[in-house]
Amino acid sequence: MIGHFINGDTVTPTNGKTADVFNPTTGQVSTQVCLANEDDLNNTVAAAKAAFPEWANTPPLRRARILFKFKMMLEDRIDELAEIISNEHGKVFSDAKGEVTRGMEVVEFACGIPHLLKGDFTENVGTNVDSHSMRQALGVVAGITPFNFPAMVPMWMFPVALACGNTFVLKPSERDPSAALWIANALKECGLPAGVFNVLNGDKDAVNGLLAHPDIAAISFVGSTPIAEHIYTTGAANGKRVQALGGAKNHLVVMPDADLDQVCDALMGAAYGSAGERCMAISVAVCVGEEVADRLNEKLKAELQKLTVGPSLDPASEMGPLVTKDHLNKVKGYVDIGVEEGADLLVDGRDFKVAGYEDGFFMGGCLFDRVTPDMRIYKEEIFGPVLSVVRAQSFDEALDLINAHEFANGTSIFTNDGDAARTFTSRIQVGMVGVNVPIPVPMAFHSFGGWKRSLFGDHSVHGEEGVRFYTKLKTVTTRWPTGIRAGADFIMPTMK
Ligand code: NAD
Repeated sequence: MIGHFINGDTVTPTNGKTADVFNPTTGQVSTQVCLANEDDLNNTVAAAKAAFPEWANTPPLRRARILFKFKMMLEDRIDELAEIISNEHGKVFSDAKGEVTRGMEVVEFACGIPHLLKGDFTENVGTNVDSHSMRQALGVVAGITPFNFPAMVPMWMFPVALACGNTFVLKPSERDPSAALWIANALKECGLPAGVFNVLNGDKDAVNGLLAHPDIAAISFVGSTPIAEHIYTTGAANGKRVQALGGAKNHLVVMPDADLDQVCDALMGAAYGSAGERCMAISVAVCVGEEVADRLNEKLKAELQKLTVGPSLDPASEMGPLVTKDHLNKVKGYVDIGVEEGADLLVDGRDFKVAGYEDGFFMGGCLFDRVTPDMRIYKEEIFGPVLSVVRAQSFDEALDLINAHEFANGTSIFTNDGDAARTFTSRIQVGMVGVNVPIPVPMAFHSFGGWKRSLFGDHSVHGEEGVRFYTKLKTVTTRWPTGIRAGADFIMPTMK
């Protein structure tokens, strides 16, 4: 049974709600996870609140030293964490290691917090008057995270939040909760004081409890768009600072001059890697010109025949199973819808089975051609190994198509034409843009975030945006008595 991590200890309630956790490769239940009730929630937030004053008052350098140790531990024990991820999420082991590495980069970034928290100082803003600014921690902050990156997405949040002096409550996805507990224990081993980082497992009741709790100052959320919108509107109405990252439909534009072998390789990884369960997966290839589409489809069909789908921990597997049976059925259901809507299903992975793992949540990669903007398979996020090819007659048509979509997380253009690439990066209404890069995920010292209905709130995650989100600005104006009395002044202070 997977419990919570509260005030430095694992707490496993014996009564209350639980949910099954599956191994997607076998399709079998591997364990259960506790779903928090109100007492669990209140105990967790109280522990984080009690730990806050001392942690906020700990010099940033000392906070960073604990994160340094955590980073070293992640390096040493990456295989352990990656195996936990593969066994509950289903992504292949090498991909799980990649996820941990990307998360570790945020820890590295957060180790630079003494520099990042430096304020500004101006001498003589007025005669004998100085001003300085500082950024101070918010208090108890919560992170609510999705199933698809059980280690990396929490690591987008808590390293920066803790480095800034906040205490943290993580509510991981109930579908793959073990990585969060591994992280909590690792932080404890690295010397993080009790109560600074807590894990509250649960479902929507735990989330709604966090949204309503008066002692939660801010919420970082990553998940699907309807929930992100709910988190943002409810959290903001309750006076909390909120960043809520939502769903995606990421397009890759293929210009007529692009190297189609490179495009094909890029699409195979970006559309089918992690079984398409990535918020930066490419799910739409927009081919500019009929001939580009015809040639690209032939290459993709050939590569899809070679795609090795198999158990997560088999080194030969390039794509593992989907996370749950429900999700598998949802993705297959979208393929059915695409066929009904009249798109050309060039490769059908719906009936795919892995020998020896017949109950596993596997499907093969699917490829649709002649998808049009009115179809549900174009408008909605499928979040599975399904790539749609849309045919555009011009660069402008491709650009307008992407700009009209409700989601605006990531996009990419493949071309050798600098002018087309420059125009694209300038005019596209999307938060993260790649030029000949299929998954343009910003590094930790930049910030990650989409536009439109892919992000609610004002701040992206990590990088300087993360530091701004997890701190509030204070500006101090100082004058030391000079012994000269100027007398009371009743007008607005101005520089004399
Ligand atoms: P989800 O929205 O179902 O769940 C996310 C979190 O919200 C979980 O912790 C879950 O317990 C909680 N939750 C679920 N239903 C809720 C409800 N009704 N009320 C309150 N809380 C609720 O998302 P998921 O299926 O776990 O993850 C996949 C989604 O996350 C995709 O839409 C994907 O695009 C998105 N995602 C986005 C980014 C990004 O950076 N924009 C990154 C990763 C994943």
